[in-house]
Amino acid sequence: MRIKRFILLEEFQTNTYLVWDERTKYSIIIDPADKANVIIENIKEENLCLKYIINTHGHADHIGANAELKEKTNAKIIIHPEDKDMLIDPQKNLSAFFDQNIVSAPADMLVNDKEIITFGSYELEVIHTPGHTKGGISLYCKDANLLFTGDTLFFEGIGRTDIYGGNFNVLKNSIIEKLFSLPENTIVYPGHGAKTFIKHEKKYNPYVGLLKMTDYLSP
Ligand SMILES: [Zn+2]
Ligand SMILES: [Zn+2]
Repeated sequence: MRIKRFILLEEFQTNTYLVWDERTKYSIIIDPADKANVIIENIKEENLCLKYIINTHGHADHIGANAELKEKTNAKIIIHPEDKDMLIDPQKNLSAFFDQNIVSAPADMLVNDKEIITFGSYELEVIHTPGHTKGGISLYCKDANLLFTGDTLFFEGIGRTDIYGGNFNVLKNSIIEKLFSLPENTIVYPGHGAKTFIKHEKKYNPYVGLLKMTDYLSP
């Protein structure tokens, strides 16, 4: 599996991941934030066939290039049913708050917890991880030993829960019950910031790790 990370939206620093199978050249894009032309150039450079546009959730900073990418590559847009309305509603995807009207093409496929997305010889398991949004998903590839977490889990951080669809306790449960049960050496590719490991977050994440912030603060 090959992975190329892009930061296409300076102000939000969203990670966009182009992921492909070197043998078959089938590829997926995870959270195309902006600048579809840059993504398409890279797809051409590597001779790839883009099969799916996968949104870990429906926020504007993760879907900005959806419409143009779909139009130019015919790839199918995938999102969880609980976030599908955010694709086409600037109020719900929060772009309206930044005086922008970011609208994606509607979803082509809706995926639920435990469903499998296949490209080339790779399988990604959908893990429903609500809490940042209601329909947030993480994508786990057992064979490649890695996990894309969107805005659910970051390097020593978690996604915001004070916005539409957010809930801290729900997010905490998603991370602890569903992500921390994965093998500890799983590599985590988050929606913002540097990559990390499940093992590291289990211990050091100040919100959900063993050494919680409250431990430092309590007398
Ligand atoms: Zn988000
Ligand atoms: Zn984000």
